[in-house]
Amino acid sequence: MDKIDIKSMTIPEIEELVKKMGQPKFRASQIFKWLHSGTVSFDEMSNLSKELRSLLNEQCYIADVEIIRRLESQIDGTVKYLYRLYDGQTVESVLMKYNHGYTVCISTQVGCRMGCKFCASGIGGLIRNLTASEMLSQIMAAQRDNGIRVSNVVMMGMGEPLDNFENSVRFLKLVSDDKGMNIGLRHISLSTSGVVKGIYDLAQLNLPITLSISLHAATDEIRSRTMPVNNKWNIDALLKACKDYQKITTRRISFEYAMIQGVNDSDEDALLLSKKLKGIMCHVNLIPANPVVETEFKKSEHKRIENFRSKLEQYGVTATIRRTLGADINASCGQLRRQELGKEEV
Ligand code: SAH
Ligand code: SF4
Repeated sequence: MDKIDIKSMTIPEIEELVKKMGQPKFRASQIFKWLHSGTVSFDEMSNLSKELRSLLNEQCYIADVEIIRRLESQIDGTVKYLYRLYDGQTVESVLMKYNHGYTVCISTQVGCRMGCKFCASGIGGLIRNLTASEMLSQIMAAQRDNGIRVSNVVMMGMGEPLDNFENSVRFLKLVSDDKGMNIGLRHISLSTSGVVKGIYDLAQLNLPITLSISLHAATDEIRSRTMPVNNKWNIDALLKACKDYQKITTRRISFEYAMIQGVNDSDEDALLLSKKLKGIMCHVNLIPANPVVETEFKKSEHKRIENFRSKLEQYGVTATIRRTLGADINASCGQLRRQELGKEEV
């Protein structure tokens, strides 16, 4: 597609574009407002001149996603979407309702190249990066489908956001723009498997987002077994980057820890983890590992997770057990897309 992806552009960039079209600068914020209120056709932009609308139609496209599957949990109302992109690729999002509002979990890539052994998203490798506009469109489609406004976003769906750094940062800029969706950066979490270079690059931008680290193990021996990224940047290098990140941003860091039965869930692991996290202002989220058809990992028993949590507290690390949402709809990312791909292969 050689048309311009206008929904990924900032207002100053759209100003440049309309200038080239011989149009007045103020048109840029009008266009931006239309795009970010979810409009998917230039013809609907009723306050633009006819001439400008036809120039936009000729030179630009408006990214959108199409809902091809929608699963709603009967337990807690969580909705899981499988979206089709313009080239037929598919990604997943999850809409969750909390007391404080709606949160959408978005994907940042089609597939993922990090290859974590417990994760369904990485099984087929990386297909391609998502554009910023495709990230925005996932939120817009969920809002449109449910007639709601989303207040929080987590970049925890399929893909590694720091392996798609430019587009992820562009997305953060656009989604928080007060002329657009205006979702504050403080209401956004970005989750990484531990791409240390990206953590340093992100630190330089000093954004008030929440950085979430998928740690999942307290020793290199265990972490390298399940997360190949650990061979490039081991736990010490990762935690050093977290400390440096915190020095700049002063933001508390979240650590995700999926509890896998017999792999990383012993009292000894809790002790080692608390030692490793010393000196970092942080919070640990304990997640009962989600069983994935293609992997052999099982989640820890609830009692084990509870024990692990109280051990951490005893060692001075605050931790909560993540509520499982959408347990009846396979809400863990990557799984719906795998099912759909499986169908096509049959
Ligand atoms: N690539 C980024 C963000 C997307 S993954 C990252 O890895 O952080 C979102 C979260 O789901 C990560 O914490 C990931 O480790 C976790 N996850 C993946 N598969 C899982 C599974 N089967 N059970 C529990 N958590 C899982
Ligand atoms: Fe990629 Fe995250 Fe899945 Fe690892 S856990 S394969 S980094 S999406």
